[in-house]
Amino acid sequence: MMERAEQIRAGLAEVEERIAAACAAAGRERDDVNLIVVTKTHPASDVSLLAAAGVTDVGENRHPEAGRKRAEVPEDLRWHFVGGLQTNKAAAVAGYADMVHSVDRARLVDALARGARSAEKKLACLVQVDFALDNPGRSGIAPAGVLELAELIASNDHLEIAGVMTVAPLGADPTPAFERLYEISQELQAVHPDARVISAGMSEDLEQAIASGATHVRIGRSILGQRA
Ligand SMILES: *Cc1c(COP(=O)(O)O)cnc(C)c1O
Repeated sequence: MMERAEQIRAGLAEVEERIAAACAAAGRERDDVNLIVVTKTHPASDVSLLAAAGVTDVGENRHPEAGRKRAEVPEDLRWHFVGGLQTNKAAAVAGYADMVHSVDRARLVDALARGARSAEKKLACLVQVDFALDNPGRSGIAPAGVLELAELIASNDHLEIAGVMTVAPLGADPTPAFERLYEISQELQAVHPDARVISAGMSEDLEQAIASGATHVRIGRSILGQRA
């Protein structure tokens, strides 16, 4: 266990250094970028070790794994749901997530709102944008649909439009997608000034995401190691 704690601290220190360097290179304040550690497939004990090391935000991509882990981890953390979401699981996820990054269709909005209403909370939502639409099966909505979906979220009493999210297209230079996400975010903020979250950047591309204005990076492997 001690050994795992040390691994996690070392991974965190390395990623912290990368984030700080990327902020400095981009002329941004370190505080402008929030680290979400993606803990999917790793045990609840890892989440507790992260909390002990000062992590405040964790991300999960699957229901019910995410809900089970949240129930098992006593520490006070913000839980982000970052994975593609089936409509029939959305209400349950809305019950335990603090922010859902993967809202990409109207039916999901209704289902999340139902869950948030039962939980008597207002749920923060990001619209997930997909820039690789020739790749069916991926999560995300086309750029042209973002503002309309954001409006639907904003008009619901139980949901809050907090910003936008993307996963860079696989095997391509991520920067064009991150730059377009930033532009879309500016358009969204012109209508909803509080919708400032730009969730972009994973282990492989956090530097490019920060250079393009990301406010939240979602890092798994660089901190926790390869997933089984
Ligand atoms: C798994 C996952 C991450 C983290 O990816 P790593 O390559 O492990 O850093 C980030 N975002 C989403 C949506 C994920 O599913």
